[in-house]
Amino acid sequence: MPEAPMNSTMLETRDVARFFDVSRPLIQRALSGEGRRMLRAVDGVSFAIPKGTTLSLVGESGCGKSTVARLVVGLYGPTRGEVMFDGRPLKEARADPTQRQRMQMIFQDPYASLNPRWRVRDIIAEPIRAFGLLSETAQIEARVGELLTQVGLSPLDGQKFPHEFSGGQRQRISIARALSSNPDFLVCDEPTSALDVSVQAQILNLMKDLQKQLGLTYLFISHNLAVVRQVSDRVGVMYLGRLVEVAPAETLFTTPRHPYTRALMDAIPDLEMTGRQRIPVGGEVPSPISPPSGCPFHPRCPLANDRCKAERPDLVVARGTPQTEVACHAVEEGRDGGPQRQEAVAAG
Ligand code: SF4
Repeated sequence: MPEAPMNSTMLETRDVARFFDVSRPLIQRALSGEGRRMLRAVDGVSFAIPKGTTLSLVGESGCGKSTVARLVVGLYGPTRGEVMFDGRPLKEARADPTQRQRMQMIFQDPYASLNPRWRVRDIIAEPIRAFGLLSETAQIEARVGELLTQVGLSPLDGQKFPHEFSGGQRQRISIARALSSNPDFLVCDEPTSALDVSVQAQILNLMKDLQKQLGLTYLFISHNLAVVRQVSDRVGVMYLGRLVEVAPAETLFTTPRHPYTRALMDAIPDLEMTGRQRIPVGGEVPSPISPPSGCPFHPRCPLANDRCKAERPDLVVARGTPQTEVACHAVEEGRDGGPQRQEAVAAG
């Protein structure tokens, strides 16, 4: 019998949306005549992550990137759309422990996600026991020691409690725990944003080394463009619950196309004083409870016109940069000035 073809996509989201009901209690609404209020945290996001690669999602706080992270590991169910894990619907995969152990999440604050009353060895051993991967105590101890070594700690550190470690070391412990169920897909939600820049670089290097050694696939969530540039194969820029641009990392950083992506790049200091031309973008991110009509970026966009106010742009291949997908009428109409090279983003 011919073998089933290998699925080369680890994770795919198809028009995924997640709304939260933020209405006031029914009685208050009845008295005031107010309707239901829905917060559209994620509103129609589609992407695919090939195995062994990293897709990063960037955007300002409240753009929906962390909600996407929770949707793809099943912590939230989608209001609309579908998440596929290695070719199977996520719901089905989550119900199967042999599939569930393949996906793990690393959170921003390692101290909050590590039980302060447990010794590190028990924290790391918990998924091994929960998934029944090993049963003999000696085997579990040996595996925990191996994992601690793999993340740059000593097997003796297993005796200690989380508070005895620095922030960077605690994040190493979180990574060891995430790896203990032998996952091949990791969702990393701002894993280094609570750390100093030098420690941040060490953790990112560790994550990249582990990806090479173990063939891991990452969905990486960050607001920090320098971090994203360091770890990503592809980058998706989110604005008000939608993807506005998706491109290979280098392409995105050298030739950003969407006015919002350009604005994010422009927010980075011009340390080399190249005097590059910037697109001014003012204003605040609008509320996802009542997003603007048409293109949600139009109230802040210097290129907005009447079409932008009325018609929502789809994510399509960008003129001039065929590896980029962008949701912008100005790019589609060729009135954005075309691809313009931008100098490197300063690390920091
Ligand atoms: Fe600006 Fe219009 Fe493009 Fe939206 S669609 S980013 S408003 S030019």
